[in-house]
Amino acid sequence: MPRNVVGCEQGKICGLLRIRLRNWSKQSAAKTWLADAQDAGARFYVETRAERVLVQAGSAVGVEARTKGGQRASVRCQNVVTACGAIHTPALLLRSGLRNEHIGRHLHLHPVSNVTGIFPEEIRPWEGTMQAVYSDQLRFLSGNYGVKFETTRFSRQRSGGAPWRDAQHYRFLLERLPRTVGSGHWCETAKAAA
Ligand SMILES: Cc1cc2nc3c(=O)[nH]c(=O)nc-3n(C[C@H](O)[C@H](O)[C@H](O)COP(=O)(O)OP(=O)(O)OC[C@H]3O[C@@H](n4cnc5c(N)ncnc54)[C@H](O)[C@@H]3O)c2cc1C
Repeated sequence: MPRNVVGCEQGKICGLLRIRLRNWSKQSAAKTWLADAQDAGARFYVETRAERVLVQAGSAVGVEARTKGGQRASVRCQNVVTACGAIHTPALLLRSGLRNEHIGRHLHLHPVSNVTGIFPEEIRPWEGTMQAVYSDQLRFLSGNYGVKFETTRFSRQRSGGAPWRDAQHYRFLLERLPRTVGSGHWCETAKAAA
């Protein structure tokens, strides 16, 4: 699976999986788009919540925001790009009084389930690159709908997500953690996966 990392050679630097990579090798927005913007002279307000987009004569002309400390901040600009995620972007636009037939509609979620299996041999699922392998063999189970399998991380910390029946059963699962493998199942349409 293609991974969005630089300088994260498997087994050498990134042999132990974790959500936040130790050497910051993940090429996140902060390391790519925002770094480029900073190089081009952009200024940032951090820990500041955009409260509404300012609109004049049908055009966005700025943003009103509030800092974590409660101070108001106002930015005037020629173009406004909102990138508050799938939930908060439409919320910001609606708070700003903007309306059209698409704002706040068409949200798509892709459900993910996880199945774990206990194997005879030791696997040590906390080692290695996380989410490194996938299979889309069953992608077209029913027309355009199918399922994609993806290896998931499974660490000692994550074992808190193991099912709880009683203490004895939980101990049974934890004792077998080194022989446990997790697999995530992405349910999606072929169009969404393309
Ligand atoms: C558990 C999980 C696992 C995932 N795994 C993968 C994966 O393996 N591969 C993959 O490709 N994708 C994965 N995704 C999806 C991926 O994380 C998202 O698609 C992606 O982060 C969306 O980016 P975005 O910039 O649109 O929004 P976000 O990353 O959600 O960023 C929105 C930002 O806006 C900020 N914000 C919200 N409201 C305001 C406001 N009013 N003012 C100022 N800031 C605001 C939020 O704090 C946030 O920082 C995963 C998502 C989840 C939840």
